Amino acid sequence: MAKIRYTYNQDSCRYEPIIVTPKAFGKKTLHFLSICFLIGLAGSIYFHFKYPFLDETLQREQNAQLKAEWQILNKQFTRSSDQLTALEKNDDNNYRVILDLDPLSSSQREAGVGGREKESASIQYVFIKDVFVKAEKIKNRLDIETQSMEQLKTELSKKQRMWASRPAIQPINNKDLKQLHTIFGMRMHPTLGYIRPHNGLDFTAPPGSPVYATGDAVVMYTGYSTYGNVIYLDHGFGFETRYAHLTKYIVVPGQVIKRGQIIGYVGNTGVSAGPHLHYEVHYKNIAINPINFFQRDLSNKEYEKLIELSSQSNTSLD
Ligand SMILES: [Zn+2]
Repeated sequence: MAKIRYTYNQDSCRYEPIIVTPKAFGKKTLHFLSICFLIGLAGSIYFHFKYPFLDETLQREQNAQLKAEWQILNKQFTRSSDQLTALEKNDDNNYRVILDLDPLSSSQREAGVGGREKESASIQYVFIKDVFVKAEKIKNRLDIETQSMEQLKTELSKKQRMWASRPAIQPINNKDLKQLHTIFGMRMHPTLGYIRPHNGLDFTAPPGSPVYATGDAVVMYTGYSTYGNVIYLDHGFGFETRYAHLTKYIVVPGQVIKRGQIIGYVGNTGVSAGPHLHYEVHYKNIAINPINFFQRDLSNKEYEKLIELSSQSNTSLD
């Protein structure tokens, strides 16, 4: 049974029981619960700051670790970017210059860079977004540089074929050479007795001296004409060479020839004033002076000998 509390009534001069109404009871209970709630909240805040939750501590440690890793990664990106820049400069200033190619413009090198910036904006963490953007830029620059290297490789291969094919050496070895007749152009023919063009150089050498192909080529023609036994070589890239007055040739049309390969031997066949090789170089069907093609192949001593041999005569032999 519940205890009954009393209070002294001065008007009636007697003790009367205290009657608690439901409204008063509810008010007191609410007041009590409010105080409890405020005390609990204050305690919770105090303990949260003084003793943070374990998950939060771990998260802070992870963030610090991620930041440290990002700084390392950032340094690596900077180093990779510097190396790539050096490679690009080497490409533009050396390789492309050697191969007669224009350097890539900055707009060509920057093509595609930044295209996925919008996509990466959805990433919450700034440093992850930063890494993503840097990685994307380096990837795009690498793609462009890879394409450039492929172009250089193709161009180099083409140039190598061209350099190997170009007529660049003497068709007669200096040890066999007795005299070089450098008359090129119109002159009096030594046996026919009238003026006609001389479209090549004459190398005097003992009959049977080897005649060398002056560049990689394919044999176009072998046969006999007023120039005696002749060989025509097609070097590609617009170049053709002709070898005349041979005692014999040892190649056949269609045969692939390498520079320095023996293709025939010096003779005196056809209309000729003596044993020699008549040698012509044609570029796009026009005869050009062959002397411009083998001077660079000679040493100083060989060049002096060539000048001496060529100065002994101002005529041609055919
Ligand atoms: Zn000649």
